[in-house]
Parts: sequence; C-alpha cells; structure tokens
Amino acid sequence: MPDDLLLRLRDFHEDYFPRHQQRFQDLVAQGQHPKTLFIGCSDSRLVPYLLTGAAPGELFLVRNVGAFVPPYDQSHGLHGTMAAIEFAVLGLKVERIIVCGHSHCGAIRTAYEGAPDEAVALKAWLRLADEALLPVQPSPEALCRTEQRAVVLQLMRLMDYPMVRRAVEAGHLTLHGWHYVIEQGEVHVFDAASGAFVPASESDHSGTGPYLPYVEHDGQVIE
Ligand SMILES: [Zn+2]
Repeated sequence: MPDDLLLRLRDFHEDYFPRHQQRFQDLVAQGQHPKTLFIGCSDSRLVPYLLTGAAPGELFLVRNVGAFVPPYDQSHGLHGTMAAIEFAVLGLKVERIIVCGHSHCGAIRTAYEGAPDEAVALKAWLRLADEALLPVQPSPEALCRTEQRAVVLQLMRLMDYPMVRRAVEAGHLTLHGWHYVIEQGEVHVFDAASGAFVPASESDHSGTGPYLPYVEHDGQVIE
C-alpha cells in the first residue's frame, strides 16, 4: 500500500520548497515576526492560511477544540493556549489576535449534547463554552448563534489577560472575532459597535473586539 503521507512529504520537499526556498531561509536568518496570533478551532475544514492568504511566517497559530481561551485565573490548570497567548503578545508583540470559530462546530454541538464519559479532558474543556450556551434546544440557528456567542466570550476572556489588555489599551493590539461559515465560503466578522457578526463582503473592517476605547487623562479617546 502506498504511504500517502510520505508522498506528500516528498512533494513538499521536491515541489513547494524549491519554489519558496528564499523565503524560508530569510525566516530562519531573520527569525519569525508574525503580526497575527490566530486562535482557531481544530476543525479540519478551517484552514487559516486559505482564509487569510497568509504565507509562511505570517500567522502564529494556536488551535484547540472550539477555539477557546481559558480564563486567566488559571482555574483550568496548565494550558498551552495561555502560554501561546503570553508568548505571542509579550515575545512576538503581535499586533492582532483573531479568534476564529466556524459553522457546524462539533465542539459547540458537543457542549450541548455532552461528551463521552471517557473523554474527561474534553468534558472539562467544553465547560469553557457554558456561558455561551442558550437555554433552548440546539437547532441549527441556535448552534450558529452559540458559535458566535462563544467567539465573543473568548474575546472578553482575552481582555482579562493583563498583557493583552495593556497592549489593547495602548493601541498596539487589536482583537478580531470571526465566525467562518464553511458553506458560504465567508468569514463573518464581529462588530463591537453593533454587537453583530457582519459578512466580510459587507463589512468595512476585519472585526473589532469588545473593549472600550482607551481614554487619556485629558479625556481624549485614543482610536
Ligand atoms: Zn469547531
């Protein structure tokens, strides 16, 4: 039986890499300087590089089931997502954080329906969506709304990270909530002013976080 994965590794090395070799070598020589931290659901249908047109070196990625951000109080224990956020903001000094959920998210559905008893970590993890759940039967519409509410909930949790809040208030960092609708091939971006998700084709921005503008001592608002 041919080993498909091995063939793909060879394709990358023999086909893609030679055509982009200089870029990879520059990224090694100069280090990575991504401007964006992308927190996305692990779902295989969400492909951040396709959505954003990003090249190697442009996205610092952290993915988990549901695209969740654990609370900063560490009540959920050691967590790689927290470490990635700290590294991206304090070390890489990223200028944007995107939280990207999506349609037909298995994490959100499972948050309503319950995970198998053996999935101890998954059960605990999905409780991070509790505040986004609606007191209704999970219809397709309710699931969609919950997916979007979960994105906003993570943006709010991000603002509890002191280094995130500091950078946002200083105007060095922006937060972007996205809901990728797979069947439409379109990201809907969260607009904090209207409290709604707007299709990218109709939006005049790529998403705004749920934070208040920073106000200087003299009352001047920093945009
Ligand atoms: Zn998902």
